[in-house]
Amino acid sequence: MKAFEAVQHYFDRAADQLSLTDNMRTLLMTAKREVQVQIAVERDNGQLQTFIGYRVQHDDSRGPMKGGLRYHHEVDLDEVRSLASLMTWKTAVVNIPYGGAKGGIAVDVHSLSTRERERITRKFVDEIHDIIGPDTDIPAPDMGTGPEEMAWIMNQHNKYHGFNPGVVTGKPVEYYGIPGRGEATGRGVGILALKMLGRLGHKAEKTRVAIQGFGNVGTHAAQFLHESACKVVAISDLSGGYYCESGIDVPAALHHAEVNDRSLAGFAGVEHITNEALLELDVEMLIPAALGGVITSENAPRVRAPLIIEAANAPVRPDADDILTEQGVKILPDILANAGGVTVSYFEWAQNRQYYNWNLDRVRQELDRVLSAAFEEVWDLAQQENVSLRTAAFMLGISRVGRATVLAGIT
Ligand code: GLU
Repeated sequence: MKAFEAVQHYFDRAADQLSLTDNMRTLLMTAKREVQVQIAVERDNGQLQTFIGYRVQHDDSRGPMKGGLRYHHEVDLDEVRSLASLMTWKTAVVNIPYGGAKGGIAVDVHSLSTRERERITRKFVDEIHDIIGPDTDIPAPDMGTGPEEMAWIMNQHNKYHGFNPGVVTGKPVEYYGIPGRGEATGRGVGILALKMLGRLGHKAEKTRVAIQGFGNVGTHAAQFLHESACKVVAISDLSGGYYCESGIDVPAALHHAEVNDRSLAGFAGVEHITNEALLELDVEMLIPAALGGVITSENAPRVRAPLIIEAANAPVRPDADDILTEQGVKILPDILANAGGVTVSYFEWAQNRQYYNWNLDRVRQELDRVLSAAFEEVWDLAQQENVSLRTAAFMLGISRVGRATVLAGIT
């Protein structure tokens, strides 16, 4: 099953529960606009290279479209289309005034120098500057991109359309960004993970956690949960998995990655395991925080964690979702679990429009408020309707988007 088909599957399940008509389903799932562009740049060695860039604008009935830009060699139209639709449901679940979009470039970022990344990013903006903007579509970081790219995007866009920092979020704090955007997704994962534990009657001190991925999301989730008394027993990145029964020294791991080009390679005093083995550990909570599609029908029967928090987008395939649900595993779905990032993006955008600076305390407080409210709504709906948290989250998102679509009127 391809990525978009997987989202369609979850969508349909919720749409059945909502008794949505076929016409409404087609209207809500069809992207508003899909753009594919050529990005031709000169590499540092003087050679010409052509990359393909995408921006899929899925829905704008609740506000300007919003979503990240992914730089990864596996990016293709199907993946971007699926991620764009997830953004629509995600912004609706946390009830922030946005629609959904996503973009990306099929490129191996590790092969690029900083100047090459800048040239590719600016060239991409040259191709899409007319369809993005603070009131239409606002990009942000995703896998393979960060504050640096966002600064270049703002700068390049503003050359065409005049100064306006609200065209993109996730910018450096010193360049129209907001404190707390960097940590927001991982912190949000942590906040929601604690809420889940609370509802299930588990104590943080008795919770062993395995986290796959030690990038922007995994590091901040690990730090937050470690500080909240959970025992993080396993972490991993591209160099492999690292396990310690008595608990990983998270501050030491963060420091190691910081001074080693963001890699855990060489992190000592722990047992080495594979990324696959990490998913099957005997823990109370599993947090996939890397690529999508890592839990499949093949490995799902071996997953022992009773609780999965989807920090990554679409880490559990639909057939695996069925197996896990049958095994009694509770899954907090991506469109709620990782919504902290886009929520703080919204604060950054609001700050840019107000020309009024928010401080870190205020950002954290508001993030907690927005995510807690969304969690309660999803949890209650799941109980009322006797459905999984994923179906409940989709139901909430779809009904908000559907309502706005109807209110706007279709002629
Ligand atoms: N890329 C992130 C996501 O998947 C953040 C998007 C944003 O901040 O607009 O939610």
